[in-house]
Amino acid sequence: MQLAILAVLILIAVILAPWLIGVAVALVAAYGLYVVAVGALVALALPVIFLWVSFTQKKDSSEPPPITGKRVPCRHCQAEMPDYIVFCHNCHGKM
Ligand SMILES: [Zn+2]
Repeated sequence: MQLAILAVLILIAVILAPWLIGVAVALVAAYGLYVVAVGALVALALPVIFLWVSFTQKKDSSEPPPITGKRVPCRHCQAEMPDYIVFCHNCHGKM
């Protein structure tokens, strides 16, 4: 799966390379080499980071979600209740 995306990225890079070189030369002439180099690194890093984050998030979401959420003690009777309920199931006091 990651290899397939890498192959697509390489394919896109090969297709865009002549166009990118032209743009890069024009940008270097206009702004200077350092600015363009930093900009290119950021532009390359962003999709990689985005892909990496989406991969790691997919991995996380494949795990079953927790059955119960965060549990908090009731302010009246101290019984532990899920934090999303409004009234305590034990003493019926407002959480
Ligand atoms: Zn209670």
